[in-house]
Amino acid sequence: MAIEKQFACPLPHGIHARPASALEEVARGFAADIIIVNHRTRRAADAKSILALVGADIRHLDACSLTCSGPDEQQAMAFLSNFLENQFPLCDQPTATVSPGPPEPTLPPCLAGAECSIYPGARAVGGIGLGRVVQAGGFRVPLALTEASVADPAEEWHNLLGVLGKVQASYENRLAQAGSGIEFNLLKVHRAITRDAEFRRQLQIAVRERHRSAAGAIADTEARFTRDLGASESPLLRDRALDIQDVCRELLRQRYGIELGVESVELTVDSIVVAESLTPGQFLGLNRMFLKGLALTEGGNASHTVILARSFNVPTLVGVRNLPTLHAAEAAVDADLGALIAPLTPPALRYYEMERRRLDERSARLREMSQKAGEGGLRIEANIAIPEEAAQAFAAGADGVGLFRTEMIFLGRLSPPDEQEQFECYRQALNAAAGKPVVIRTLDVGGDKLLPYLNLASESNPLLGYRAMRIYREFEAIFRTQLRALIRASAFGRLKIMIPLLATVEEARWVKKTVAQEQKACADAGLDFDQTMPVGAMIEVPAAALSLEHLSKELDFFSIGSNDLLQYIMGADRGSRRLQSLYQPTQPAFLRALHQIIDACHRGDGKISLCGEMGGEIRLLPLLAGSGLDAISASAPLIAGLRAEWAGLDLPECRQLWMEALDCRTEEEVAARVAQFSANRAAPLLDVELVLWNPDAATKEEAIKLAADRLFVMGRTDSPRAVEEAIWQRERQSSTGFGNGFAIPHCKTNAMRGNSVVVLKLAAPIPWDAIDGRPVQFVVLLAIRETDGAVNHLKILARLARLLTDDEFRARLEGEASAGSLCDFLRARLDG
Ligand code: PEP
Ligand code: MG
Repeated sequence: MAIEKQFACPLPHGIHARPASALEEVARGFAADIIIVNHRTRRAADAKSILALVGADIRHLDACSLTCSGPDEQQAMAFLSNFLENQFPLCDQPTATVSPGPPEPTLPPCLAGAECSIYPGARAVGGIGLGRVVQAGGFRVPLALTEASVADPAEEWHNLLGVLGKVQASYENRLAQAGSGIEFNLLKVHRAITRDAEFRRQLQIAVRERHRSAAGAIADTEARFTRDLGASESPLLRDRALDIQDVCRELLRQRYGIELGVESVELTVDSIVVAESLTPGQFLGLNRMFLKGLALTEGGNASHTVILARSFNVPTLVGVRNLPTLHAAEAAVDADLGALIAPLTPPALRYYEMERRRLDERSARLREMSQKAGEGGLRIEANIAIPEEAAQAFAAGADGVGLFRTEMIFLGRLSPPDEQEQFECYRQALNAAAGKPVVIRTLDVGGDKLLPYLNLASESNPLLGYRAMRIYREFEAIFRTQLRALIRASAFGRLKIMIPLLATVEEARWVKKTVAQEQKACADAGLDFDQTMPVGAMIEVPAAALSLEHLSKELDFFSIGSNDLLQYIMGADRGSRRLQSLYQPTQPAFLRALHQIIDACHRGDGKISLCGEMGGEIRLLPLLAGSGLDAISASAPLIAGLRAEWAGLDLPECRQLWMEALDCRTEEEVAARVAQFSANRAAPLLDVELVLWNPDAATKEEAIKLAADRLFVMGRTDSPRAVEEAIWQRERQSSTGFGNGFAIPHCKTNAMRGNSVVVLKLAAPIPWDAIDGRPVQFVVLLAIRETDGAVNHLKILARLARLLTDDEFRARLEGEASAGSLCDFLRARLDG
C-alpha cells in the first residue's frame, strides 16, 4: 500500500537541476516507485528522473506530496522524509538574482564622447575585459541526419542505448578526474541526464514509435526539454536547457563523430566571447588564457556557465540587449559598468587604458600592502569552503588560507567523498597557494550541519553536543580517509591540519596518534608527503582555552574559532537574534579570554590566529592587530579591504587601544573606544601620494577621472565612479575653473571614506571653461564626506579659494620642484 506525505518546497530557488539531482540519487537507492506531485502546477514527477523533477516546476513553498509505493516503501519514506527535512535545504547554492531588463548605464564622461555603442547587460561576474569579438554557441543538426530513414528501429535504439552508455561512462571518467567543486557538480548533473528515466523514455519513443533516426530522436528530445524548461518562469530552470543541450551535443558527437555548428571556437588572441547562450561544456572548451570577457543574451546569474565564469574570474554580462546588432571586431565587457562597449574607438581604448592603469595601480598597492603585512605584525589569511575560492583569495593578497571548511565537500550527498576526490580538492587549494600555508580543517559536522549518511540522533542541545571532533571515534573510517587524503596532499604545499572543537589533552593525543598511524601507512605504501606537516586545533571551547599550557606541548598551532568560543564564553547561542547584545565580540569578558589565550600561546612559543567572523570586521582590525594575534582570517572578498586598513594602522597605537579595551567594564565602553580610535585616525586631507606630477590628461573629463581614480588607488573611496559623478554634478552647474590656470572641482559624497584633496600638476594646460577663459594647468580637487556636513566643505573650499587669489601663493605652487615639496607647502597653508 502506498504511503504519502505532504511537504512544502524549502528551496528558495525551487527544485532546479542540482537539488533534483540530489533527490534523484536518493530515490534511485530504493525499489519503490517514488512520485512527487506539485499541487500548484498539478504536475507529477518520477523522483528517479531529474528531468521530470525539474519539469514539475516546483518553486519555493509550493505544496507538494511525496508518495512511495513498492516493496521497500517504508524505508524509502523514512529516508526521504529525513532527507527532505535536513539535507535537501542544503542542496541549493545561494545565488543572487539578476534583474530581467538591465537598465542602460550612465556612461562615465570620458566614455560619453567616444562614439561607441552600448549593449546593456546585467553584471554576473565583475571586472573589465577587452578583446576580439568571437561569436560562439548554438548548434544545428544537419537535416540529412535528422531526416534519415531508419530501416530497423530496434537496432537503431540498441545503438543509441550503447551511445548513452558510452557518454555516461565518459562523464564518470571525467568525474573521477574533476575531483570536486563546480566542474564536479556540473558533470554530475550531466551524468544524471544521461541516465534519466524520462530522458531515455523520450529518446526511445522517438526511435521505436516514430521511427526517427538517432539524430532525429536526439534533436526532438532536446527541443522538447528545452521548450519545457525555457517556458518556466524560473530563470534557474530556463538555464537548465543549456545542460540538456550539452548532453545532446555529446550524444551526437559520440554517435556520428561530428562537431556541430560553431561551437568549437578556438581562441588564439585576447577575446570577448559573445553568444546567445553558452553551455558549460562550451565554456570549459574555451582557452581561458585568452578568454577576457563573456557577453550572453540569455543565461542567469545562477547558470552553470556563469558559476564557472565566476570561479575562473571572467568578467561576464548576462541578459545583454541588442547583441545581434553587434558587428564590431573588438569590444570591451565592462561588467562593473553593466555594458558591452563596442567598437573600441581610439577614445574608448584610451579610456580603458586608464581603467587598466587604475586597476593595476590598485592591485599593485594592495600587493605592496601585503608585503608590508608580511614583514611583521598581523598576517591576513582567507577562509574558504571550496577549493575554487583559494585562487580568488590569493589574487586579493591573502597571506595563506587560515581556514578551509572541508564539510562543504561532504554536504549534499549520500555518501562521503572518497580519498581520491578529497585529495584532488585539497591539492587544488595548495596549488593555488603557491607555497603559502593552507590550514585545512577536518570534518566539522553535527550540531547544525547534518549528514544523512551519518544518521546522527537529534539532540536537545546540538551545539553543545555530538559534533566536530567528538564524532571521530565513532566514524573513524571517515576521519582516517580524510587524514590520508590530507597527508597525500601535503606533498604539494604547506598544508596544516586543524581539528575543530578540541577540548582536552586526551583528544589531542588521540588525534596525534591517529595522524601518525596514517602517516606511517602512507610511508609504508611508498607515498610522498610532508613529514613535518603541522597539526593544530581550533580554540572554540573554554576548556581548550584554559588548557593551552598543556595543549601547546601536544599540538603545533592554534586558531581561535571566535564564533563558537564567543557563544560558549557568553553562554549565548550564536544564532539567537534575541541574544545579540550578549553575542558581541566586543564584550569585555570575551576580550579578556582572547588576551589569556594569546598570552598562553606565546608563552609556549606557539602561533595563534583567529578565524571566526570577528576577523572580517574591519572596525575591529585595530583591536585585533593590537592583541598580538599572529594572523586573522576572513572570507576572500574581505581580504583586500582588510589589507588596506591594516596598511594604515600604527601597531603601537593599536596595542594601546587593546590595553584600553581590556580595562573597559562594559561592551558599550569598548565599542565607543573602538569608534573613537577610527575617528582619530582618518587619513590627512592631503598627502604626497595624492599629488600627481605631470599626469597624462588631455581633457577636463580625463583630469577629473584621474583624480577620482587616485582616490580609489589610495583606498580613500571604493567607488571612483560615484565620486566622479558627484564632481560632475557640481561641475555641470558651473565651471570650477578659477582663473589664472587653476581649477578647484569639488563634491560632497559618502562614497568617500575621509575628506581628501587631490592635486594634479598637468604637463600641459587643458581647456576648462574658466572664468578668465585661460586653460588650466593646476587642478586642486576637494572631496568631502557628506556626513561631515556643509560646514567642513565650505570652510576648506573658502580657504582654498582665498589662497588661490593670492599671486604669491600661486607663484609658489607653480614653482615647487617636486610632489613632496608642493604637498608640504599646500598642507601647511591649508592647516594654517
Ligand atoms: C568558529 O567557530 O569561529 C569557526 C570558524 O568555525 P565555524 O563557524 O565553522 O563553526
Ligand atoms: Mg566553530
